[in-house]
Amino acid sequence: MAIEREKLVYICYSDIAGQVRGKGFPARDLEKRRRFGVGWTPTNIMINCLGRIPKTPFGPLGDLHLVPVDSQDVVLDFGDGTPVEHWLLGEVRTLDGVDWECCLRSLLRRALTELENEMGLRILASFEHEFYLEGAEERSGDAYALSSLRSNAVFSEEFIGALRANGLEPETYLPEYGTKQYEVTVDPAPALEAADRAVKLREICRAVARRHGFRASFSPLVTRGVAGNGVHVHYSLLDKEDRPVTWDPQQPGELSEAGGSFAAGILRHIRALCALTAPSVISYDRLKPNSWSAFWGNLGLRDREALLRICPYPQAADVDPAPCYNLEYRASDAAASPYLQLAALVFAGLQGLREKLPAPPITEGDPEALGPEKRQEMGILDLPRSLGEALDALESDQTVLSWLGPTLSQAYLLHKRGELEMLADKDEAEICRVYTEAY
Ligand code: GLU
Ligand code: MG
Repeated sequence: MAIEREKLVYICYSDIAGQVRGKGFPARDLEKRRRFGVGWTPTNIMINCLGRIPKTPFGPLGDLHLVPVDSQDVVLDFGDGTPVEHWLLGEVRTLDGVDWECCLRSLLRRALTELENEMGLRILASFEHEFYLEGAEERSGDAYALSSLRSNAVFSEEFIGALRANGLEPETYLPEYGTKQYEVTVDPAPALEAADRAVKLREICRAVARRHGFRASFSPLVTRGVAGNGVHVHYSLLDKEDRPVTWDPQQPGELSEAGGSFAAGILRHIRALCALTAPSVISYDRLKPNSWSAFWGNLGLRDREALLRICPYPQAADVDPAPCYNLEYRASDAAASPYLQLAALVFAGLQGLREKLPAPPITEGDPEALGPEKRQEMGILDLPRSLGEALDALESDQTVLSWLGPTLSQAYLLHKRGELEMLADKDEAEICRVYTEAY
């Protein structure tokens, strides 16, 4: 009897390395696996983006479960006889079914629950992604050019179609400023779903690119001196009835009191947050002056170099600004898990609300020009200038570590310092290459 191809399904999660890892099983066992998941082990969280485990606090010990969560399955069926890719997002739990301390999706859930319980607030979010399409055509002068879309139109349509088919509600798609660089945005969604979407989007993009002989890379930087790939996190606050509460036309920048305290919490802890939102060696070569990313810990109005940017909304008599008004956090990239990124922002914002911090001043122009004294007076911190500096800032910020808890804090610092050491003697071109491959 001829062998029949057997369909496989995967359960996976997004880990400290921002990688999507998991285990597969025959599709016929789907219902059983939906209930019980697959086995997992604590040390797996220590696998870095280079596929190595320099050190682990867990050793070979322990058993966990990777169990599917209530999020739409990803199904990539191109209808042409090629294998259908089918996977489910999961969370890592203990054998008793309790959230595991190092599961980043449950960390985000906890952050959102605390925000809702303590402040009666929810988050609406969207991750804006840039990526590099290796193998795409290149032409001098092609930034934002129609020709850059035409040259890979089939990939583009299939990518957007795959996002739509998997519930991601694509919003815009464009060739970016960098060569072979593209950007894609999806509609905002409740925070947990927004982070699920970000995990799915990166993998869907990689899968579709591969079909067309391209390689999509979300590495923060692909080539030195060429525009980096950001992952800008847009967010706004809702009350318990899902009414938008970030906009207040009476306040500076039209930022409500709650929105101001939330932003101030982020800025207060920004040096430690960077270790969680921009967590690769190469991330700090993206966060440079004049590169439309972020260089200072400031709040800016429609300023594409501010760390937190107040975004514009359509100015028309029949458009209510309240649901459109949102802020964008720009010191983030795809080396981080979207769950960890958003959890860090939510915890920091919640801390700002707890302490009733006043809204940060809105900068005009480049904070560089203000000089160090004025910046200090305005509470504008320097972002860390390297991963090592960011990790030191994280280690010395007890408040941020308390959000993560002792086990995750220790695992995270060990994981990232191991990565740093592995790349310590590599030159920048080699580091770019390694990250381009990893992400
Ligand atoms: N490529 C820029 C970054 O690294 C962002 C450009 C933009 O969309 O404003 O964040
Ligand atoms: Mg962009």
